Amino acid sequence: MSFADLGLSDSLLRAVEDSGYNIPTPIQKQAIPSVLMGKDIVGIAQTGTGKTASFVLPMIDILAEGRSRARMPRSLILEPTRELAVQVAENFEKYGKYHKLNMALLIGGVSMGDQLAALEKGVDVLIATPGRLKDLFERGKILLTGCSLLVIDEADRMLDMGFIPDIEEICSRLPTSRQTLLFSATMPPPIKKLADKFLSSPKSIEVARPATTNIMIEQKLAITNPRKKREVLRALIASENIKNAIVFCNRKTTVRELAESLNRHGMAAGQIHGDMDQPSRIKELDKFKAGEIAILCASDVAARGLDIKGVSHVFNFDVPWHADDYVHRIGRTGRGGATGIAITIATDSDQEAIEAIEKLTGGPIPRITDIDTAASPRDKNDRETSEAEPRARKARGDRARPARERAPRERAPRQQVEREQTPLEAAPVAEVAEAVEQAPREQAPRPERSREKPARERGGREQSGRERGPRGRQSEADTSSGIGGTQRYPAPQGIQPVDETLAPGDWAGPVPSFLSFGIPR
Ligand code: AMP
Repeated sequence: MSFADLGLSDSLLRAVEDSGYNIPTPIQKQAIPSVLMGKDIVGIAQTGTGKTASFVLPMIDILAEGRSRARMPRSLILEPTRELAVQVAENFEKYGKYHKLNMALLIGGVSMGDQLAALEKGVDVLIATPGRLKDLFERGKILLTGCSLLVIDEADRMLDMGFIPDIEEICSRLPTSRQTLLFSATMPPPIKKLADKFLSSPKSIEVARPATTNIMIEQKLAITNPRKKREVLRALIASENIKNAIVFCNRKTTVRELAESLNRHGMAAGQIHGDMDQPSRIKELDKFKAGEIAILCASDVAARGLDIKGVSHVFNFDVPWHADDYVHRIGRTGRGGATGIAITIATDSDQEAIEAIEKLTGGPIPRITDIDTAASPRDKNDRETSEAEPRARKARGDRARPARERAPRERAPRQQVEREQTPLEAAPVAEVAEAVEQAPREQAPRPERSREKPARERGGREQSGRERGPRGRQSEADTSSGIGGTQRYPAPQGIQPVDETLAPGDWAGPVPSFLSFGIPR
């Protein structure tokens, strides 16, 4: 079956052909004709399956008829993160190049003034994160009564991030006679309930999880001593035939420190994490896409759903705390039919997490037994955090005492001494404070998910300084937690707002062209 068999217009088929795709993926085959017929869809599919085009393509043809009106978007796509929203916008740009459709993005981290101006002009497609959309809606700046097509993308991520009540409210503001498409990698009961409530006789489409079935990704596991993780990573980078690589870490601090360390070793590495503002993230991504940097150190939230073609390797510098994050991470390689290699660096303490991953992915990950760290000589200047920490403990004579036994008040100042020996010496006070706050957690056991407060209760909105980590985990939201009774420290401040519609940390600079534009005919 070709794209021409799906009922798409000639101009759209031309745009698809220009992008180099000839054969529709399973989700595209199943979804596109039904969407064109106006049916509601529940699509159980992950990123990497081609699901974005499965709704973007038919939407372009549907929206080709009709006209937009000021502040009344004709269609709405809800995305859990800014990065995913930008990616969907890029898809509209790519496939909509022969159509004249106006698109606007409503995402945190961009001046609201510019977003409002785009809305005033009238938009055919509004791509939004729920938090920002609700803010605008509550201020009466937007009317959803003209919105006849709604896409709820990555619904299970929305659930993890505490967005479901926002989505319910948004759905109830849309006309009841609308078409609704819901996509989710999994179908937990709250998502099923949402679908039952807001979709009408939907067609259910399920496609295989790409990573669990993606034989194009070769997976490997390197088990090492915690002190040698950086050395092992460098050796692997040196020994593998790497075109480019994304290196995932569990914490923002690790992302920063690892990127600095790799650069000290002459490896061009960039970084992307939740504390960076939107322009900085885009800049780093562009450098990586352009090949100016071969290695991108990343945290989960910042990298979620990123669609970068031709990533040859994914490294897990830290084993992810949740098995499904492993699937998401390694899915950054082996995309669009290409092959990829995913190598996870683990220590003995990761055994439980590895078992969960192997259970989810359906088999043991082959172990690498012959890592030649001689190819990666130690550098005296590279003071590895994981090495400095046990040395400091040994000096204090409290080596045998696990972190959880020590009183919280005792921990903070002691860790401060340890962290003073790290490359964060020169970092701003808030950053050092954050590292001090994180350090005890690196030793403490992972908190039980059930005990974590829901994202909503923690008071986070979305992204950046206000960013919530998925499922309330500590990886990205690590400035806002009090795990282990440690003291709380403020998140580093971003650019001070100049626009009263901006929140602290929002970007007040120029808006990149793709954030608000019309697609030329
Ligand atoms: P998605 O699941 O939407 O994140 O898409 C995953 C990747 O597949 C992206 O790089 C798309 O550009 C690419 N892609 C989408 N449709 C096709 C297709 N029909 N053939 C090959 N690659 C595709």
